[in-house]
Amino acid sequence: MKLRGKVAFFLIILALFAGALLHATDSRGADSIRCTDGCNMIIIAVDTLAAGHLQTYGYGRDTMPQTEQFFSRGTIFENAYSGAPWTLPSFASLYFSNVPSQVTFKDLARNGKPSFVSAARDAGSAIYGVLLPNTVFVTDAVNSPFKEAEIEYGGTDTFSKAGGAVRRLSEQSKRTGNPFLLMVHTFDAHDPYSPVPPYDTVFGTSDQNKTVTMQDILHANLAATPTTETLHDYILRYDQQLRRLDDKLGRFLESIPESTLDDTVVILLSDHGEAFWEHGHFWHGLSLHKEEMHVPLMVRAPGAGARRVSEPVSLLDLGPTVLSLMDIPSPDTFAGDDISILLKGENLGKRLLRYENGYPFFLHTITPDIVPPSSLSAVDAWDTNLPVIEKSSEGARWGDLVYIRAVRVPSKRFMFDLSSDPTEKENLLSTTVAETRAPLVEQFKEMLRAEGLF
Ligand SMILES: [Zn+2]
Repeated sequence: MKLRGKVAFFLIILALFAGALLHATDSRGADSIRCTDGCNMIIIAVDTLAAGHLQTYGYGRDTMPQTEQFFSRGTIFENAYSGAPWTLPSFASLYFSNVPSQVTFKDLARNGKPSFVSAARDAGSAIYGVLLPNTVFVTDAVNSPFKEAEIEYGGTDTFSKAGGAVRRLSEQSKRTGNPFLLMVHTFDAHDPYSPVPPYDTVFGTSDQNKTVTMQDILHANLAATPTTETLHDYILRYDQQLRRLDDKLGRFLESIPESTLDDTVVILLSDHGEAFWEHGHFWHGLSLHKEEMHVPLMVRAPGAGARRVSEPVSLLDLGPTVLSLMDIPSPDTFAGDDISILLKGENLGKRLLRYENGYPFFLHTITPDIVPPSSLSAVDAWDTNLPVIEKSSEGARWGDLVYIRAVRVPSKRFMFDLSSDPTEKENLLSTTVAETRAPLVEQFKEMLRAEGLF
């Protein structure tokens, strides 16, 4: 064997040995997330996607098969909670990693606390958002962490625009060596419930001539108990819309090139769920019950295997986690935790997760004859130090125990044990707690007292 041959032979043996060693490490324990210079991030926020309506979270109907198939190779967070049950405070809490009452309009107007988007931008990453068009009054506030030049407005072609953005950003990232951050926000699961053919016959047949609008839903809330027919019809239409969304979202996910996926973390989440009379109302933003707070969180990261994580996590954890995966330090204003070790099969430990609900401050701080500030420029007219909501209720989750209280009515408070009462029917504060759970409940109360919540 000539010298060159000997060297090559030696290198091959070395490579085989190293490979065997790596394999042994993999099978022994934690995965490692492999991205060359920090991971690119594709974050898909599906507005109003209730975790309880997905098969991977135990639902009977296969509402989003293609999406679930894509994320079956990633991590499913079984117990992810949003920071608030409606769009504006939920996005404020996830972008700024704080409960909504700690986020001000000044922050949204980019004169205050940093968001994970601004932190990534400041670190040199390309930022891009395929976001909601300006059709709802909160849109500008929700899109505010992005600069105008970084936004493309979605709509019926959100996912084809997102596909184009992935291609452009991947090219750019290869040139600059900096990871990119793409946020996609779609309203496809949100009301009105108006499934179109052929989706109006999936899971059953809904009335094709009828659209259920937000006004219909809110009117139904004013009525006494809805008829079984109405309840089933609303649920059917919502599920049909999810299947329609799945066709678009599934195609987009499948279109992401393998070469991009090798260096990219893909995240699916929702800002809040949707209620279907589990606690006496439809829609969202009306309570801190599970059907409004429990959201899907699925993460596919290169190098991390398929797993399910039962440890409760919060969308306040999104910012620190995204930045950690991009190799960017988190601002010290963030209240959430970096949960990326959960993707590798490690544990984080039991934490107290907080969330809130409230009315938008501007609804009563500006005179009613002024149009609500659909643009942040309108915010200049009043005090931008105000938080995005005036807190009306607050809550916390600790393991399987959850707590809710009304801020102005101290006697109105609830505690549920999701391990024995997954639909939150039995208030532990007005019943005798099982002996086996009593010490844990007392410990939870102590923690809530320490936080000024009880
Ligand atoms: Zn929303």
